[in-house]
Amino acid sequence: QTPVPSDIEISRGQSPKAIDVLAKEIGLHADEIEIYGQTKAKVRLSLLERLKDQPDGKYVLVAGITPTPLGEGKSTVAVGLVQALTAHLKVNSFACLRQPSQGPTFGVKGGAAGGGYAQVIPMEEFNLHLTGDIHAITAANNLLAAAIDARILHENTQSDKALYNRLVPLVNGVREFSAIQLARLKRLGINKSDPSSLTAEEISKFVRLDIEPSTITWQRVVDTNDRYLRKITIGQASTEKGFSRQAQFDIAVASEIMAVLALTSSLADMKERLGRMVVANDKNGQPVTAEDLGVTGALAVLMKDAIKPTLMQTLEGTPVFVHAGPFANIAHGNSSVLADKIALKLVGKDGFVVTEAGFGADIGMEKFFNIKCRASGLVPSVVVLVATVRALKMHGGGPNVSFCAFLVKQMINTCNNLQLVSDGCCNLQKQIQIAQLFGIPVVVVLNVFKTDSPAEIDLVCTIAKQSGAFDAVPCSHWSAGGKGAVDLSHAVRKAANQQNNFRYLYELELPIVDKIRTIAQKVYGAQDVELSPGALSQIGRYSHQGFDKLPICMAKTHLSLSHQPERKGVPTGFILPISDVRASIGAGFIYPLVGTMSTMPGLPTRPCFYDIDLDPDTEQVKGLF
Ligand code: ADP
Repeated sequence: QTPVPSDIEISRGQSPKAIDVLAKEIGLHADEIEIYGQTKAKVRLSLLERLKDQPDGKYVLVAGITPTPLGEGKSTVAVGLVQALTAHLKVNSFACLRQPSQGPTFGVKGGAAGGGYAQVIPMEEFNLHLTGDIHAITAANNLLAAAIDARILHENTQSDKALYNRLVPLVNGVREFSAIQLARLKRLGINKSDPSSLTAEEISKFVRLDIEPSTITWQRVVDTNDRYLRKITIGQASTEKGFSRQAQFDIAVASEIMAVLALTSSLADMKERLGRMVVANDKNGQPVTAEDLGVTGALAVLMKDAIKPTLMQTLEGTPVFVHAGPFANIAHGNSSVLADKIALKLVGKDGFVVTEAGFGADIGMEKFFNIKCRASGLVPSVVVLVATVRALKMHGGGPNVSFCAFLVKQMINTCNNLQLVSDGCCNLQKQIQIAQLFGIPVVVVLNVFKTDSPAEIDLVCTIAKQSGAFDAVPCSHWSAGGKGAVDLSHAVRKAANQQNNFRYLYELELPIVDKIRTIAQKVYGAQDVELSPGALSQIGRYSHQGFDKLPICMAKTHLSLSHQPERKGVPTGFILPISDVRASIGAGFIYPLVGTMSTMPGLPTRPCFYDIDLDPDTEQVKGLF
């Protein structure tokens, strides 16, 4: 239809099939799904056991060039590609996408269901609460945060004996250690199982975690862009007896629990990871974990349903898993390993699983390979790199848009300028080279907007092919659905049969600083890195604690290859500043913060929520995109 209606109108214009019908079509048994309403179902992990002997399908990653603040269409390409593969080429395929955060949905960028005729439907279900996974993460994260401060208060206001009597439960009138407590005793070298046999010294060692408040790295989270929570003071009521400290909120999708969900391989593995999460150091510089706080079991209970991927469908009725939603700038930016693994079994040997890594290839894709593929052991077949004329014009010297998304739409889209496009292709070339560092064939897709001229489209595809892409094709999935991505699907199929020399960028054995420098120089193009004294001392501490053999998850702006959002194209000669380094031990990565990166976004002057409304008569949602 021309003009293309709004995303929500398109979504509403199509009646989704009942989710149990889709589940049956893709070979799921009735007892392998848990239905949420008519259009969503969670899928049980028992499926993996049933399908364990099936060969995997081909694994395709959609990544992108450095985007404008509006996004260049990775989600729409992922959806368009599976629509083309399944509905037009009749090849089994699955899209595995992240659940969007409500921060961007009500902030600047809008939802993440794709758009136009390449969408997951119903898009309001996808973009809002879905099946509650982010709420579960928020609940689990904040339970742990509450446990830390409450423990500090109680340890500082009670005697050893009083603490001991409260912490070791009475079972039928007799004190008994729980399994978590027995494990802690063992770690402390106290090999006793009878609570009445501990000496006073052992009791004191056992009940006091002695958390050093200044070392607490575990933050509270909320899934709203609430800048006023970036720095807060907690514990100001008189009941907290002066145990007040400076703290902060992060956006929920940056919680380590989100990363754990995205990287875990089973319920047992998730529970172990949750227990391993380090929240602070004790007064002797030893790490304090969620397990030490006795909260592992409760966290696992809160997360037991979130671990199951949610099945939905595209506009053309093909299957989609939505599972986990870390951002790519302040987290590792990829949907779950579990969803990908299940989907790879379901599509079979000749099928395709298409997943998406957030923002530009320099961040989402780098983390996909070095963090997600390391965790899963899966080897991807093809990288699809999404470019748009509007973003290339920006990189070629067009309006610098990090300050106003609305202006980008107005200005970049409407001026026809081959020189700007050609100059901006440096960013595309650099992102192709980054993908090639990992030894995977690259298919460039130009996501066509109605304002792009044929000459601009040809120019981008020609430059992409000359720059080492296996193929480069324009794609009109946004305005035409799956049939607009048929050329892309042929190119992807061909590329998937190419020789694959997949490799990681760095060895885990390298010191933390060297791993950071490798990413900064080889991926971002930095001259070198500069670490603040705080970052260096954190690295020293993590190395001493034995946490140095982990991959790196850089928190860096997505709006530039460098740390400065206003530097477009391919910045050179910059020194990448590392202001802080954190550790996500349960997720399994070291987390350096680049420059002034904030883990809590803010709202702009005119956020998306201005346009979002509900019609009380029809219950229809308006204004989501
Ligand atoms: P990304 O996943 O890269 O962040 P999205 O796929 O979410 O990007 O697309 C960003 C926004 O741009 C969405 O609102 C989408 O509907 C819109 N969009 C994508 N492709 C096109 C296109 N070809 N024409 C018009 N709008 C588009």
